[in-house]
Amino acid sequence: ATSAQSQPFQAEVAELLHLMVHSVYSETDIFLRELISNASDACDKLRYEAIAAPDLMADGTPPKIRIVPDKKAGALSVIDSGIGMDRQELIDNLGTIAHSGTKSFLSRLTEAKDGAGLIGQFGVGFYAAFMVADRIVVTSRRAGTDQVWVWSSSGGSGFEIAPGSEEDEKRITRGTEIVLHLKEDAKKYLETYEIERIVSAYSDNIQFPIELVPEEGEPRQINSASALWQRSKSELTPEDYKQAYRAIAGAFDDPAMTLHYRAEGRQSYAVLLFAPSTKPFDLFEPSRKGKVKLYVRRVFIADDADLLPAYLRFIRGVIDSEDLPLNISREMLQNNPQLAQIRKAVTGRVIGELESLSEKEPEVFTKIWDAFGSVIKEGLWEDYERREKLLALSRFTTTSGEKRSLKQYVEDLKTNQTEIYYLTGESVDRLKSNPKLESATARGIEVLLLTDPVDAFWTSAPLDFGGKPLKSLSQGDVDFGLIPLLDEKSQEDKDKENPGADEAATIAVIKDTLGERVSDVRASQRLTSSASCLVAGGDGRDRALERLLAQQNR
Ligand code: ADP
Ligand code: MG
Repeated sequence: ATSAQSQPFQAEVAELLHLMVHSVYSETDIFLRELISNASDACDKLRYEAIAAPDLMADGTPPKIRIVPDKKAGALSVIDSGIGMDRQELIDNLGTIAHSGTKSFLSRLTEAKDGAGLIGQFGVGFYAAFMVADRIVVTSRRAGTDQVWVWSSSGGSGFEIAPGSEEDEKRITRGTEIVLHLKEDAKKYLETYEIERIVSAYSDNIQFPIELVPEEGEPRQINSASALWQRSKSELTPEDYKQAYRAIAGAFDDPAMTLHYRAEGRQSYAVLLFAPSTKPFDLFEPSRKGKVKLYVRRVFIADDADLLPAYLRFIRGVIDSEDLPLNISREMLQNNPQLAQIRKAVTGRVIGELESLSEKEPEVFTKIWDAFGSVIKEGLWEDYERREKLLALSRFTTTSGEKRSLKQYVEDLKTNQTEIYYLTGESVDRLKSNPKLESATARGIEVLLLTDPVDAFWTSAPLDFGGKPLKSLSQGDVDFGLIPLLDEKSQEDKDKENPGADEAATIAVIKDTLGERVSDVRASQRLTSSASCLVAGGDGRDRALERLLAQQNR
């Protein structure tokens, strides 16, 4: 037989493990949630693959998860009859960090002093088990294969991989067994009441049965193993939803918004969606992938099916269809008309829910806006159809305050003001000292101060709100002529602005001097105390967009 082989961990894994082993993080309980979540994913994958290859489940045992404490050995096992891993998968999955979330976790870690706090906030998957175990042995058989493989590690710099023994082959017919040799101060996890407490706190929503196999007595199921989204709203408490959110999204925060309903009609499906209350690491990944999970009749199908537009990619949860075929392929997912219909309807519901939240619970909505507003605004640029609704949802910092809606803006228009004014730039502070604001300030006109990179994009197309066009103060002509100044002295200044003979001569000299470098030189009402400013032509690109495009080498 082949003997054991040692392999080093990828440098990032070693770094992460070092942190786990030396962590002073007190909430070590989460290791069990991570292992159960992996076991549940493995059961999901098995069920999905078995649609095309029923042989994988031919032995008739349904996918499930078992937890087995062994006080004598000081070991806790988490065993699943899911998809399992072959040799290469063990090496790839448990020796490297392939997950973007964990990668950015690590990059944060180097900045943050409080590494332990970060563990609690974001979880670190399988490796969390090294907080409680000084040695871990993973024995696994990929469904449909002959060979069992054993991965083992004591943390440190590497792991060993070896073929399983005859005994292993008998014991494990499919799936994965993870044996944790617990550290002295983690032996409490061998107590059945501890295990039950953690499972009911973190993992009750796992769809597959979780069985506790006590050293004495009969095995018993310790979770409810129902798909929560299939239950009726009236049986569920806010606590149930919070737990479901954490389990489905792998999150540690509380959901800021919950949307749970069942659509019946041309298509039937259940929807359970959440808006998180904190920003995840990967919100601005270039792939802009959503994470809503697609199920078909309780069977997990995919978590990358683009069930919502990219500007709602922060929304987490599940959509479970009754009508789609179970054997729907990846390619079919992309242009399936039924799915397109679901996507459209659910997008409308999510936006509607955000709308009503903004009215009924403005503080909660503000939390969501603060975390995800800059993402939602991508929709102003991409989703022409829903632009108006998204614009109504948007909140802005303006010269009159923070978190102003355009509805508020329009209610406070000055006499004769027919346009909504804005400036784009890098920071509110810098915008506030921009000379282009002077004339607006003199008239008490409110100006939106837009500082997100995305603002340069959506403002580059003509746009209006409630019949009032949005107009940049740094682009083309701005005519405040009919809007009265706030005080008399400024009125004099205004009179001085009127072009006279002097002014025409001055402009001629400036034009002469600058020549080709400018397209025009004009007297402006925009300024009250500065002598001049640069503006883009009326059809020119806004300068911030130019800068952003330059940064991206376009
Ligand atoms: P994540 O669950 O976010 O992918 P983890 O660190 O928890 O990250 O797990 C890493 C990978 O190891 C998983 O993506 C999966 O491929 C594999 N894995 C872990 N546990 C199991 C298991 N019980 N059965 C099958 N594969 C597993
Ligand atoms: Mg995991």
